[in-house]
This record gives sequence, structure tokens and C-alpha cells, in this order.
Amino acid sequence: MSSPIWHPFTQHALIPKMTKVDRAEGAYLYTPEGKRITDAISSWWVVTHGHCHPALVEAAREQAGKLDQVIFAGHTHNPAEQLAEELVKLAPEGLSKVFYSDSGSTAVEVALKMALGYWHNIGEAQRQKIVVMEHSYHGDTIGTMSAGERGVYNQAYSPLLFDVETIPFPTPGKEAETVQALEDILTDNQDKVAAFIVEPLVLGAGGMMMYSPEVLKNLKIICEKHDVVFIADEVMTGWGRTGTMWACDQAGIAPDIMCTSKGLTGGFMPLAVTMCQDRFFDAHYSQDRARMFFHSSSYTANPIACAVAYANTGIWKDEPVQERIDTVVKHHTQHLDTLKDNPQFENLRQCGTIAAMDIKVSDQGYLSNIAPQLYDNFQAQGLLLRPLGNTVYIMPPYCVSSGDLNEIYEAITNAPKVLGL
Ligand SMILES: *Cc1c(COP(=O)(O)O)cnc(C)c1O
Repeated sequence: MSSPIWHPFTQHALIPKMTKVDRAEGAYLYTPEGKRITDAISSWWVVTHGHCHPALVEAAREQAGKLDQVIFAGHTHNPAEQLAEELVKLAPEGLSKVFYSDSGSTAVEVALKMALGYWHNIGEAQRQKIVVMEHSYHGDTIGTMSAGERGVYNQAYSPLLFDVETIPFPTPGKEAETVQALEDILTDNQDKVAAFIVEPLVLGAGGMMMYSPEVLKNLKIICEKHDVVFIADEVMTGWGRTGTMWACDQAGIAPDIMCTSKGLTGGFMPLAVTMCQDRFFDAHYSQDRARMFFHSSSYTANPIACAVAYANTGIWKDEPVQERIDTVVKHHTQHLDTLKDNPQFENLRQCGTIAAMDIKVSDQGYLSNIAPQLYDNFQAQGLLLRPLGNTVYIMPPYCVSSGDLNEIYEAITNAPKVLGL
């Protein structure tokens, strides 16, 4: 009998059988038959310290027996309060308010609503436009798809997507054009733009496209000049992914609003936060109920998820997390260096713990047939790697060993030959 489950981003006709995973530990997944799979993409970019970290397991266990769930309107609890205090300390300067939700997409929706609500409530309701960067990904809900790159993955829903202004991706050598494009859009739409939203330093789902902290900094400066809300979508880049706690840190900037989710619980539970400056909260603070922030989800600030996220902040304090990150960074750099003269790879790039490269083929793009072939090839070798078109990337949990990375890079190096490319 076929399964009743409809899987995400999966063409069932091409993948009739799912890989069943029974348990996980550190950088490894295990099938019921006991086969070990190295999780080289951190289970869709979420796992930071490794699977089933004992401190997170314990936090979940303890909280589950105490308070499972409670309405968060008009109510509060210790896990949410303790976590919020830690987040304000950890976040870039000025992000003093924490709004909880449950996924990266929701965190972005909340950020956009905060920005629009802010302008509406301070009497500048004409500021409605959103400016985005080409090739961005902010989620799969209608609002976040609107802010993201348009393509085959959202074509059917395009009638529902709202219009945005788009600046080009800052390809190397053309950074000035991107910065100028933002300046031009904000000048041409004076007092009409609500916010600019961007993935800092790395555009993840867009193909692990990377750009410099200088560009990020310049984009922030332009937003400041035009009084446009700068939203950093750190859903993927946060929690050390790019080598620093936040990607924004490398540009020396603090966003006006920041979204974070994937690494927030160490990849253990679904949870997200949108952090903002006081002014967004203040603009909604009133005796008038019509001015409150109209957003919630049933599981807002789920106590178990918050307890796990709080335990995650403990791991950052108690364990040498930055050292582990630095080690992964160093290994990536060494491996990429040995690949740089290999004619079958191009656009080798790295940002912190994320390494990516394009396999030279004529069949490119997200629907490229090369991706499933690569996926199968890696899977047969016990490696979970999920190429984006002809882009292969490695985004491991920080506990990954140098031996694991050797295996991963060896498999990637051999892949073009094995597949006869
Ligand atoms: C994954 C991702 C999202 C969406 O997060 P979900 O939890 O999958 O909804 C948003 N923005 C970025 C940059 C992401 O990488």
C-alpha cells in the first residue's frame, strides 16, 4: 500500500521510496536497518551542535513534564521569559523586543507585518512597498513567496503574490550596481517604501550565492538614509552558520528587524522569533485596541520549544562552539583549495561553515536532472547531500569530524567522474 504522506519539495513519481530514519546522534542519521548516513546538510540547515544533543534532550524532557503548552495571549512562562532575555543579549544592538512564532516563514511574515503596522500606526500608511534582492528565499507562504525569487516553484500561485521592487544580486565585480539600484528605487519611491528585506551574506535556497559584508553594510546605510526599515532574514545565517553568531555582525550592522529560526533550538524543535527595536512595539502601544499587533499562531512560544532554545543558549556559553565552527571553517577552506584547479568545478565559495561549488554541466538550474543523480550517488555512499541544481553545498553540524568532511569532499570530487559528466 502506498503511504498517505505527501512529502515537501518531493516529486513522488520520481522518488517512490523515502529513506526512513529511526534515530540520530551527532552528525549521523541511522536507518532502521542500522545504516549510518552523514548529515552533511544539517537536516535542511537546522541542526547546529549535532543531533540529540544531551542538554537539549534533557531540557525537552524536563519541560514536557511541567508545562506543555499555554495560550500566549495574556499569559507568560519562564522558558519564554528566560529565552527572550538571552536573545536580547545575544542579538545585534537595539533589538530589544522578541516576538515568538513557529517557523522561518512565519518569522518573515511577522517582520513584514511589523514594518507595515509601524508605518500605518505612525501616520505614514503610504509606505507599503517592499524591496527585495534577486534570487532571495524567505519561505513558502504567500507573503514570503512574494518577497522571494519568482520561478517554477511559485508560478502556479503568482496571481496571489504581491508586487515588490527588486535589486540585482551583487555578483562579484558588479556590487556597485546593486547598491546603486537600491539608492535609485528608494529615491524614485520617496516615502513609499516600507522595508527592505535581505538574507545577509548568503542567499540559501537561491543557490548558496554569497556576497560581501561591505555590500550588506552599504545597503543598510542607504536604508538608513531613506528611513526605510531594514529587515535581516537570518533564518539560515544565524547561530554561527556564517562563522559569526549573526551574518550581520561581519558587516558591523544591526538590523531594525531580524528573523531567526533554524538554529534557534539547535535544530531540535520548531520555533522562530522576530526581534525588533522598541519603536515598532511603541507604535503599537496604545489604549486603542485597534492599534495592537494583530498576529498569533496557536503554538506561539511553545514552552517546550522555548526551554530547548534556552538550553541551546546554554550550550553556546558552556561549550567551545566557536572553536568547533572555526575548525569546520578551516577544513572547508583547505578542501576548497585542493578543488580549485579541478576543471569539473567552478564558483567555489565559502561563508563560514557553508561551502558550495557548481559542477560544470550544460544542464543547469533548479530542475536540472543532475541534482537527483548526484543525490542518489551521495546517498549510496551514506551521505546526505541535497544539491540545488548543479550546485553542491555542504552545511554540516558543527560537531562534524575532519574524517567525515574528508569523506564528503572525496565523494563530491569523484561525483562528476562516477556520473560520467
Ligand atoms: C528556511 C528559510 C526560511 C523559511 O523557514 P521555514 O522554517 O522553512 O518556514 C526563510 N528564510 C530563509 C533565509 C530560510 O533559509
